[in-house]
Amino acid sequence: MGAFLDKPRTEKHNLHAEGNGLRYGLSSMQGWRVEMEDAHTAVLGLPGPGMTDWSFFAVYDGHAGSRVANYCSKHLLEHIIMCPANKGAGETQSSQTGSDSSAWDSPTLVPPTVETVKSGIRTGFLKIDEHMRSFSDLRNGMDRSGSTAVGILLSPDHFFFINCGDSRAVLYRNSHVCFSTLDHKPCNPRERERIQNAGGSVMIQRVNGSLAVSRALGDFDYKCVDGKGPTEQLVSPEPEVFEMARAPEQDQFVVLACDGIWDVMSNEELCEFVKSRLEVSDDLERVCNEVVDTCLHKGSRDNMSVVLVCLPNAPKVSEEAVRKDAELNKYLESRVEELLSRPAEEGFPDLVAVMRNLSTDIGMPLLPPGGGLASKRSVIEAVYNRLNPYREEDGSGAELEYHW
Ligand code: MN
Repeated sequence: MGAFLDKPRTEKHNLHAEGNGLRYGLSSMQGWRVEMEDAHTAVLGLPGPGMTDWSFFAVYDGHAGSRVANYCSKHLLEHIIMCPANKGAGETQSSQTGSDSSAWDSPTLVPPTVETVKSGIRTGFLKIDEHMRSFSDLRNGMDRSGSTAVGILLSPDHFFFINCGDSRAVLYRNSHVCFSTLDHKPCNPRERERIQNAGGSVMIQRVNGSLAVSRALGDFDYKCVDGKGPTEQLVSPEPEVFEMARAPEQDQFVVLACDGIWDVMSNEELCEFVKSRLEVSDDLERVCNEVVDTCLHKGSRDNMSVVLVCLPNAPKVSEEAVRKDAELNKYLESRVEELLSRPAEEGFPDLVAVMRNLSTDIGMPLLPPGGGLASKRSVIEAVYNRLNPYREEDGSGAELEYHW
């Protein structure tokens, strides 16, 4: 299990781009953990003929090291696309279905069928897992890392939601959460059955009392039960793939995030918060950074990664929302000034006392839905720091000063 730092590492990794009718932004932060084990992938336009209008995004949440998460972030997509079915001659699966994934490389530019794509994704996961097992450090147990993977593959007509583990993807359509992937937890009846059939058990909601996810890439310690296939092991690398026709008029955005985000935000909270931020800013990195900061301030102790993919009908910046947000910031600033200007018997209040006081403020304008006061902590803290006469510039002894 990961150890914790004395204060969180709040530097963020950011990226954004647009293409194929999409805009995306991402943010990741190490947070309180000693190591950063999350990784991600964002590709607009897939390699291969006929695939330039497809896109792929994924978040990987590593555990017991970052090796598997990092490798997958660089190579999972190629394992999915360059489907080995056409290289490994004699694979029966392809001749049965008559639509093996080699169609992805088809020079005839015939778009692959939904079923071909789904089986290509599944095969890609199994192949990369098999491939990584041959790496000497992973084989000999020097590195015991594993990783969840949640992703979305977008064709011009379809979404393919992909999940292996307990990271999660959600689709916001028609101003509500329309779909979310289901986490693979050892307690799920189907997962528990597979674990027990492989001779394992589920204790304290973990595989053999130890691993908190029941599907993952890597984790080869949990994949060596004799006589069982790769998808029958204690931990399975098999993804669940869910396809959905795109609805361009209604689809707004997709969010992919690891459990460091979902631990402190529900699907609805996160989507409502993202929506409210998109009405204030079209800077997707900024929106993702606000998500990550808000989750840190809501108490997440884990690494955090979020990828936001905006579809053509994503919420747009509205003048009214911008004005209301500015008013709220102003209100908060003046309230903090007021609180700090009142002489208190207990001395200068700490930031927690200020936050607590504001949380019971009945005159407060509406806070961002899903984000609440935590999403405004940076605004509050900036005023607090400016007015705090005891502020130590190096931050020592001031654990509340971790915010950038
Ligand atoms: Mn995590």
